[in-house]
Amino acid sequence: MKVNIIGKVLVGLAFAQVLVSVTYAQEQAPALRRTPIDQVPEWTITHINGGAYQATTNAHGTVFVVTSEGIILADPLSFEFATWLKGEFATRFGVPVKYVVYSHYHWDHASGGEVFADTAQFIGHANLPQYLDFPPESTTLLDVVGQYEPVAALDVNGNGLVELSEAPLDIQRFPGSKQSIFEGFDANKDGVLTGAEVVRGPLSYVYPPNITYTDEIEITLGGQRVNLLWVGDMNHSSDTSLITFPDDDVMLIVDYISFRLPNREMDYELGKFEGWMTAIRTTEEEAKKYKFVATGHGPVGTWEGVTVWREYLEELRAEVESGIAAGQSLAEMQQSIKMEKYSESEGFDWVDENVLGMYHFLTD
Ligand SMILES: [Zn+2]
Repeated sequence: MKVNIIGKVLVGLAFAQVLVSVTYAQEQAPALRRTPIDQVPEWTITHINGGAYQATTNAHGTVFVVTSEGIILADPLSFEFATWLKGEFATRFGVPVKYVVYSHYHWDHASGGEVFADTAQFIGHANLPQYLDFPPESTTLLDVVGQYEPVAALDVNGNGLVELSEAPLDIQRFPGSKQSIFEGFDANKDGVLTGAEVVRGPLSYVYPPNITYTDEIEITLGGQRVNLLWVGDMNHSSDTSLITFPDDDVMLIVDYISFRLPNREMDYELGKFEGWMTAIRTTEEEAKKYKFVATGHGPVGTWEGVTVWREYLEELRAEVESGIAAGQSLAEMQQSIKMEKYSESEGFDWVDENVLGMYHFLTD
């Protein structure tokens, strides 16, 4: 917990200084992510082109392709959503899932594959399996840094474990699912979270790939191809695959590019901003070859959405660079950098967090 650490360090200093520093630290600490308990899962399947469809639930989306020999499915999103999909595949198409192809390991995209394990092979980048490994048993809740710090902080009785009773009812849930993120962390299903389980992340429902690749892989099923291209080591993850279905003119990009503004503080704690920009430029060039570009969040678009994303980040970087050169503080830049040009974009209320992320990319 950043707040606690800074609080301890500052014990003995003047009260006013403690107050200012703690307030500053609280602004920096991530908040516990929540899902309203009355949120109704909305599950949809929409035809894109040829054998390709987009499947969505609330804020998340994936793509699948139907062939005469079975289905190639990208991210399964969650156990409940995948269970629904499996039933829809049986009634609509009458063929099973033969391949599940992962965009990356994150819990809110890769969960639920187990549902298809009776018929499918699972493909992911060679860097994926390491993320599913457990840290040492000796890992404690104090070792949790970054986005899951608020989960570690739920241990209000201070016994070094997060009990189910300590988690709020509206704690974040899997996409389109009643299952909570708590179940995702609780790998051994004993109803308590250890430091090791929280550091690993909510990955209990990620079914590991049995086929991995390093640079590029092409699979053919029923005459339809799917390609996975590794887009390199970057902040969002180091196992990200750009997934394309060339026979249906469809591309799927998940999380490192979206058709809304970048998510919150942009994973700055992992660094690798230049790797991210390289992945974006590679994807932008590839996307120009495709008519339909789907992302992990929101409606299907075109390559031009990728260009807008790149330009936004370049403009944001230029703004923060000039703020730094002018001697502005981060707080001043969060006030003054508006990115008004993007005021109609989803995620516009995250611009101040994007400024914070960019500031860290440029100065850490
Ligand atoms: Zn992700």
